[in-house]
Amino acid sequence: MKSTINVEERVSRVAPDIYQIILPTPFPIGDINVYLIEGSSLTLVDTGAKTDEAWEVLVNAIKKCGYRMNDIDQVVLTHQHPDHCGLVERIREVSNARVLGHPLIAPFIKQDQEFFNYYLDFYKSFYRNNGVPSELIQTLVENSERNYGRYTEQSEVHTFLFHKQMVPNLNDWQVLYTPGHAQGHLSLLRKSDGIMIGGDLIFTHIATNPLIEPPYPSSGKRPMTLIQYQNSLQMCCKEKIRIVFSGHGKAVVNFKELAQFRLNRNWIKAERIRKLLNKERKTAFQLVKLLFPNRDNKELLSTLSDTLGHLDLLVMLHQVKAAPICGVTYYYLDT
Ligand SMILES: [Zn+2]
Ligand SMILES: [Zn+2]
Repeated sequence: MKSTINVEERVSRVAPDIYQIILPTPFPIGDINVYLIEGSSLTLVDTGAKTDEAWEVLVNAIKKCGYRMNDIDQVVLTHQHPDHCGLVERIREVSNARVLGHPLIAPFIKQDQEFFNYYLDFYKSFYRNNGVPSELIQTLVENSERNYGRYTEQSEVHTFLFHKQMVPNLNDWQVLYTPGHAQGHLSLLRKSDGIMIGGDLIFTHIATNPLIEPPYPSSGKRPMTLIQYQNSLQMCCKEKIRIVFSGHGKAVVNFKELAQFRLNRNWIKAERIRKLLNKERKTAFQLVKLLFPNRDNKELLSTLSDTLGHLDLLVMLHQVKAAPICGVTYYYLDT
């Protein structure tokens, strides 16, 4: 079926050498923005999800920018979520482009089965530990495995990018490692004009979700993703950022103010959670049901990550305590 999407409206030149391309996704977040950077190497930042519709829009959009798909020299992935990396293999097949990203996204991109087994085992005990009913756990774990495979394809990261290094073959762009939303999340900053390509670091219209991932290496404790995310934002506030081209929605022109606003909102929400624990102890899952009464269980990883992120803040400040009862963690006020 031919897409009815108007490509004209989905391509715009956002800087003299940067095009923004808006691709459709099948996810609740909606469209994703990917960026084509001209220079010594033609570089695409992020790819869109693996759907025929996104592929068709991408091919036509690149044509509209004056290139063909096989002109792409390299693809930089901001992180491993399917909306950002799903088409990487199709692009690579056509263009033989090199793929660059943080080392922590490599096993996802490779679809390493041993890693996926570890990943799914982690989520099973994570959900159990947070009071999610067992019948729901099975569905959640099966869906997450199925959905990842459905909108991505096995590929490879050829070059690892680390914090503060310059992106190879791309003048002036520096890598900022910005974990929190994903453990392998990075942003790109061009020092000379303060343009950042931020992936899912910050949006104008919604807060970024600090999605919980397993610990890497596996022997560690799960990352405190909201605290990580806050630190990533604060670290970026020290940089001279004029504009952030985000993975979703409009560009951010007031990065510092918006970052501060998001940080403040975290404390408002943390206080709300503290009050919910006033009368009795609760599991994170019970809190999710109070905080997000209308959200579907399909989104439980999001809502649970958000809730646990704020609980981590409260526990860190000794405002709330956590204790296991029969393998389930309960949160309570220490009064
Ligand atoms: Zn993401
Ligand atoms: Zn995204």
